Amino acid sequence: MKKISLVIPMYYEEQVVEECYNRVTKVLKEIQDYEYEIIFINDGSKDNTLDILERIAKIDNNVKVISFSRNFGHQAAVTAGLKYVTGDVIVIMDADLQDPPELIPDMLKEWEKGYEVIYGKRKSRKGESVFKLLTAKAFYSTLNKLSDVEIPKDTGDFRMVDRKVVDVVNSLPEHNKFLRGLFSWVGFEQLAYEYDRKERFAGKTKYPFGKMLKLALDGILSFSTKPLKIVGGLGILSVIISFVILIYSLLSYIFKWNSLTPGWTSIMCTITFLGGIILISVWMIGEYIGRIYDEVKNRPQYIVKKTINI
Ligand code: UDP
Ligand code: MG
Repeated sequence: MKKISLVIPMYYEEQVVEECYNRVTKVLKEIQDYEYEIIFINDGSKDNTLDILERIAKIDNNVKVISFSRNFGHQAAVTAGLKYVTGDVIVIMDADLQDPPELIPDMLKEWEKGYEVIYGKRKSRKGESVFKLLTAKAFYSTLNKLSDVEIPKDTGDFRMVDRKVVDVVNSLPEHNKFLRGLFSWVGFEQLAYEYDRKERFAGKTKYPFGKMLKLALDGILSFSTKPLKIVGGLGILSVIISFVILIYSLLSYIFKWNSLTPGWTSIMCTITFLGGIILISVWMIGEYIGRIYDEVKNRPQYIVKKTINI
């Protein structure tokens, strides 16, 4: 019998756990000829998320729980889940039911047709702030301009993937995995599956601006070295500008166009401009070096404190 594995990360989701488990289980039970497992990852929540998960896992053997020693972030949680899956086909989804589990049977049909990555593409997004929508849009367009692989717009981590693909992603040695980028980067038969993203079932978003910014930077920096080139371009531009200023000052001196307080404006402009560019360059290079440093240290992306039913 074939098996479906679900990977669901949770961070402070006590209001959502039970409903999530019920809805998902209802859907999975109705799919014929498939066994299933649900892997919940407790990403260091300090509320009752883990207690509720433990209770569920005690009565249902299809439920497996991985609990982290602290919060390592959404991408780490999903990465951990992927390491433990045993199914032939894997679904990654959020706990808050923004990605409706009722779509799974239909996505499964696409998988049976031979698609290996069926990624959810949001047709609409309900209940999200204008700020979130705008930043998401800006993020995807920047990412696609900068990055060397095409990363589909309006795509989160909700997707169904074949075992083969998960094995490939698991075997990649990098630590800071930007999963939605990697799942696009690996290739295979991909299908965009359009759906309407629902409102969060309960609770607040666990992705405040800081975390979103980190995700965006991870995405851009792990898929592109273009920011470094842009820095180079800015450097060249600033050199050209300083030449133009030089020539302008010479000409205005020779032809007595006007008598600026000698040099003040141009010096101030040049200094601030160059200072800015140098700082941006150092920052950019620093970001890459920081990431290289992280990879070299070879620390794990997450620490598992406890597993249940595994
Ligand atoms: N999440 C997590 N660790 C974190 C932040 C979020 O495991 O540090 C989980 C969260 O519980 C949810 C999913 O990642 O299942 C997506 O988070 P959320 O719904 O808050 O993000 P949004 O939909 O607002 O982008
Ligand atoms: Mg959500």
